[in-house]
Amino acid sequence: MPGLFKRCPLCFKEWLTEDDFLQDRTLMINGYQFAGKQTTPPFPDGYILFTHSVHGCGTTLAVIAKAFKEVDRKKETKHSLSPI
Ligand SMILES: [Zn+2]
Repeated sequence: MPGLFKRCPLCFKEWLTEDDFLQDRTLMINGYQFAGKQTTPPFPDGYILFTHSVHGCGTTLAVIAKAFKEVDRKKETKHSLSPI
């Protein structure tokens, strides 16, 4: 059984992996929500908010930031985004 990274609560679109999710151009990042004072420094828990901008949906998804891989900033930066 394949894993499931995230499911849209409104239209039930499923993303099986983190890469699948991050490469979906219908997801627009729109903010960060701090989870509260109970979280542990130096990396407090929080949620990254995405808007699922497809016809008939448009809801906001909150994905806990820890779900994403940590980026090693010492490595040479490789831009995965297309030029505008
Ligand atoms: Zn959706």
